[in-house]
Amino acid sequence: MDLHSKEAEERLNQQIKLEEISLLYDATPFSYSASILISLTIYFVLLGHVSSEHNLQLWLGMILTVLLLRSVDSFLFSRQSITEQRKNKWRMRFFIGTAAAGFCWGLLPWMGYSPEMEYLAFIVVCLVGVISGSLSTLSYRWEAMALFLLPASILLVFRLLAEGEDFSNATSFVLIVFIFFSLSSGKRIFNNTQQNIRLRLEAYNRERAIELMHQKQALHVQKTPLAVIEFDKDMCITEWNHAAEKIFGYSRAEAIGENILRLILSRDSVYDAEKIWEKLLKHQTITGDIVENKTKSGDPIVCQWFITPLTDNQNEIVGIAAMALDISEKIQHEKTILKSKEEAEKANQAKSDFLSSMSHELRTPLNAILGFTQLLMYDKSLNDKQQSHLSEINNAGNMLLELVNQILDLARIEKGHLHLSMEQVNIKDIFNECRSMVTPLIEQNNLSLNVESETNGHVVADYTRLKQVMLNLLGNAIKYNAEHGSVSLKVLQKDRNIVRICVIDTGKGISEKQLDEIFQPFNRLNAGVNIEGTGIGLSISKQLIEMMNGKIGVNSKLGEGSEFWIELNGKLDLQTAMEKESKTISSQLAISGETRQDHLILVAEDNPANQALILSQLEALGYTAELARNGQEALNMLVHDNYQLLITDCNMPLVDGYKLAKTIRERGNNNMPIIALTADAFPEKKAECLKAGMNDQLTKPVKLETLKIMLEKYLN
Ligand code: ADP
Repeated sequence: MDLHSKEAEERLNQQIKLEEISLLYDATPFSYSASILISLTIYFVLLGHVSSEHNLQLWLGMILTVLLLRSVDSFLFSRQSITEQRKNKWRMRFFIGTAAAGFCWGLLPWMGYSPEMEYLAFIVVCLVGVISGSLSTLSYRWEAMALFLLPASILLVFRLLAEGEDFSNATSFVLIVFIFFSLSSGKRIFNNTQQNIRLRLEAYNRERAIELMHQKQALHVQKTPLAVIEFDKDMCITEWNHAAEKIFGYSRAEAIGENILRLILSRDSVYDAEKIWEKLLKHQTITGDIVENKTKSGDPIVCQWFITPLTDNQNEIVGIAAMALDISEKIQHEKTILKSKEEAEKANQAKSDFLSSMSHELRTPLNAILGFTQLLMYDKSLNDKQQSHLSEINNAGNMLLELVNQILDLARIEKGHLHLSMEQVNIKDIFNECRSMVTPLIEQNNLSLNVESETNGHVVADYTRLKQVMLNLLGNAIKYNAEHGSVSLKVLQKDRNIVRICVIDTGKGISEKQLDEIFQPFNRLNAGVNIEGTGIGLSISKQLIEMMNGKIGVNSKLGEGSEFWIELNGKLDLQTAMEKESKTISSQLAISGETRQDHLILVAEDNPANQALILSQLEALGYTAELARNGQEALNMLVHDNYQLLITDCNMPLVDGYKLAKTIRERGNNNMPIIALTADAFPEKKAECLKAGMNDQLTKPVKLETLKIMLEKYLN
């Protein structure tokens, strides 16, 4: 028996118990009235014939008192709630009352004893009558029967035996037989009564459950937002609920008996309906098919249908039950969303095109501004004031360039257009490059720089983007540092496959509350207007590192400096790490004055301003360079002269940079390094350049230092 049926059985037993006690108490008014009548009759018949009239009066008093108390008990029971009536105490009280009554009746032959035999016989007849009568009223509970019958009859038997006459002995024998007979038939009656009660209650419970189920179903059909429709095999509607009235506009009276297809099927959906009907005839159910319907007013609506064939015992279809949900609004909504999505995508595309061209358009003039400014800054003939103005131009240009870069990055990340090229990045290389790039700034701000550049190992990352993040963190560590403070760049093996890169500064630190907001875009916390910045660097860094499957975070305490960290997949070569030493560098990157005549460089560039700039930059770095005004010219020059390196613009007339590189490689010249010079900062550009056969890419505006590092990398 499972838990559920156990509970039901327990509930039924409780119901039976309640029914028994109610029936026992219910029978009391009749039986008590009869008992009072009989006891009074006995009293008056025996009066004047008993041995002790006093005893007889006492007996009458006793039996009437017991009957009175039991009547009060019955009355009290009838006033109780069902829960109260269920309690065991009422059974106990009833049983005690019954036993007391049985005992009183048993005392009759003793207290109302008459020496005249016919009066004793009268008592026997009365008691047998009372006992027999009680059998029917007490049959609802076997114990109650026994509690009444036994004291009443046994005391009578003893009295008869005490007479010692043959007649009384014989009577007591008959009485004993009567007692056994009464008890056994009483038990049978009790069993039958029990069975009857059980069957009646079970039937009642079943009926209630069915009634409740019907009520619930009716309520559900009435309240559900689904149209519930039933129709027969001739498609005549037999059921039409409230929701169907609302959805299709026909009242129940109008719909019942009508052909469902004619009533609600739109002309365009006849084919769909035929398909559905075929499936139903094959006893298949329809789950969620979408059909175009029409309302009473002829308006088209779209409904989703759930249809089940109803079958009889022989599996013959006797009807169809269908439920329909009006999804017109949802469909309309989806269409609107789709349209807005398409429009948004178009707008995004336009934005992306705009960003790309803006990047190009802004970078080309910036290239010239910054490049020439830097060259002028090395002109020793300028006085201090002129130098200071140049430095202002340079700073403003750099800021503008950074802003353009960051805004472009942010937009591209948001649109998911930023693609990374993941590789094993050598830690030593990237640390050295970062060190050389931030050293001038360190010097400028009177800070010291600590770089653990002797550690071998790698992290899995996009080289350019990781460098961008590290430079952002180093830049912040410099900007927000204290006077004469220090900046450290460290690396450690965090977990088996996780490497942590830390940028530590000795600045003013960040409060705990601000730590939560620090990676939000455009949030400059309380950086103050005198420290330049846009507030988007850390936000971009976070997104970039997460795109590289890494983590970025910060530990900081106000007044104690900050430690920004990046965790990426990777491994350190711990052998070398043990030997590593920190180097404090405070030397400025000097522009080499030495001439490198041994390296002849070819520059392919069509823009006159950019031509002048790159040639001047190469000259400043001590290299000898020749110019080709487009790709074709470069190809021609390469046939005659032996160049050690080619720097080429990508977009040029006749033969562009990509075609130029491709042709050089196709001609079998695989050794000469080819560096692209592009205005486009997007990493796809670099991939495109590498695909064309180039070795590396420089993004305009090219800083002198960057150019120097790049040339040293490929020439020395
Ligand atoms: P920006 O530096 O251009 O303002 P970031 O996104 O790089 O933008 O940094 C956001 C803000 O976080 C900064 O404005 C600054 O208030 C705070 N911050 C960043 N790095 C540090 C640091 N090392 N020490 C103290 N504050 C910092």
